[in-house]
Amino acid sequence: PGTAIFTLGYGRRRVGRVGVGTGFDANMIRSYRSPYLTRGAQVRTTGETYLLALSQLHNSMEGRPLIREAALGDYKSTPDFVQKYELMPVPKQKTNLWTEPNTTIGQQWGMTIDLTSCTGCNACVIACQSENNIAIVGKKEVDRHRHMAWMRIDTYFAGSPDDPRVLTQPVNCMHCETAPCEGVCPVGATVHSPEGMNDMAYNRCIGTRYCSNNCPYKVRKFNYFNFSRRQDELNPLIAMQQNPNVTVRFRGVIEKCTYCVQRVNKARIDAKKYGNGIIPDGAVQTACEQVCPAGAIVFGDIRDPESRVSKTKAQPRNYAVLGELNTRPRTTYLAKIRNPHESLV
Ligand code: SF4
Repeated sequence: PGTAIFTLGYGRRRVGRVGVGTGFDANMIRSYRSPYLTRGAQVRTTGETYLLALSQLHNSMEGRPLIREAALGDYKSTPDFVQKYELMPVPKQKTNLWTEPNTTIGQQWGMTIDLTSCTGCNACVIACQSENNIAIVGKKEVDRHRHMAWMRIDTYFAGSPDDPRVLTQPVNCMHCETAPCEGVCPVGATVHSPEGMNDMAYNRCIGTRYCSNNCPYKVRKFNYFNFSRRQDELNPLIAMQQNPNVTVRFRGVIEKCTYCVQRVNKARIDAKKYGNGIIPDGAVQTACEQVCPAGAIVFGDIRDPESRVSKTKAQPRNYAVLGELNTRPRTTYLAKIRNPHESLV
């Protein structure tokens, strides 16, 4: 109480097309003698309003067990505690509504995200943006709900409102085995690969956005404008900064996480050239996995029982978000285990 916290590093005068006069520079209230603490400041209202552009408009899970957590003691006594959160028992989640995907050929890709390790630092979001040529749309477009990130960090609050716990959850395309986005595309622009990835063919997409409506995880983003071309026209150097292995998207198409398919393809070519054609475990890392300082993200072949991802998926705290929808996501989460020091509880 009585403390205001400011984040340093903002207050841009001019950086690129959308970074003009953005944010506020908190350095102005720092002093040389006391750089991190200023006493005696006053906060008062100005009577003016200021637009906040948010990409997440609610911080409640609204009764759905999106993030599952337990104290260490409870985890030790009930290792499979995540099961008690299931809205529909896992065996019942398999129905005959969809043709069963054939997961017994080649390598089958999947991912786990460990919520115990994740600190919500956003490094994965920035790495994904950089690797996959994701356009920066700017505050005005974010305010119109046109934000354009393939990966996002959802933030929720739990516990008492006076002393809430903050929970963070990275969310990207789950590469559902029975993907609701695929069935509704009238032009087959989003299809399943034999290796279990949910692929996008941008030049087939006609922008109906049915896939985005039908995606329960809301991970698909639509190009309302030619964001990339606008950037290039303003500064041709930006075009040279793009990753040449990733298609630059144009106006009117949907885009989303590809599990860094370009990296998988490169690893496959190398495996054919120098090995037996099988990509060894760990030879391909997605950009988010590579950059995660906590090692929370693991990607690999779920058909290989010895792969790191298979071993993490075998842990009792592994669960699928919205599994009751029978989407059978390839990305699953490891529940958050809390072990706070007694004096902090
Ligand atoms: Fe499709 Fe959404 Fe599932 Fe990805 S998470 S495969 S976009 S339904």
